[in-house]
Amino acid sequence: MKYIRKTNEPEVLANFKAQANEDWQPSYELLRGKDKQQFHHHLISEQGHICCYCGERIVSSDSHIEHFQPQTDYPHLELDYFNLLASCQQKIQPKEPRHCGMGKGDWFHSELLVSPLIADCEDFFEYAADGQILPSRELEKVAVATETIERLSLNINKLKALRTGLIDSIYNDSELELPLSADEIDKLIHYYSRTDEDGKYQPYCQVFLYLLEQERVDRKYV
Ligand SMILES: [Zn+2]
Repeated sequence: MKYIRKTNEPEVLANFKAQANEDWQPSYELLRGKDKQQFHHHLISEQGHICCYCGERIVSSDSHIEHFQPQTDYPHLELDYFNLLASCQQKIQPKEPRHCGMGKGDWFHSELLVSPLIADCEDFFEYAADGQILPSRELEKVAVATETIERLSLNINKLKALRTGLIDSIYNDSELELPLSADEIDKLIHYYSRTDEDGKYQPYCQVFLYLLEQERVDRKYV
């Protein structure tokens, strides 16, 4: 999970809501066509083109607008910009496992779900070299992180395999000389902490950042 810094409500959503009058009330269901596409794209861009929960690369056609607090129980938040995120998965293929927003469904718990909008959300999770995501070992974070991983299905084989594949591509298949030097680790941390010239984070950047920080500590580079 990567922290998402929300700014101001984008015009497209503000304008849509501003059309409200005595005879017409805006609702999420009525947000359609170009307005919806534009807003969806805005969410993807502000997240650096990665899923709000797992960090997978997303585009409009393979992601959906996610209600962090579900519409079923929180209808007053259905068009609240700060409740709307972009999550991976749109049309689920037969036998494709659900995860992230599609896995969570209508579930929500204010104390047991880590929000990507809180500044320290990244500290709730740890990552293992075998692709697993684990709850932080900090006592006050264990319960909420464990429940979040479970509800979002972040440890299913599909996501573990994707993370392992990317970890391997860096540590085993790349030109990097191992073990990594302190300079190389700093360079990689710099690279994965930022968006590229197109405003995109690298997929699963948080996993690498965690592993690189661990390596820096293990090798006593700090
Ligand atoms: Zn995801």
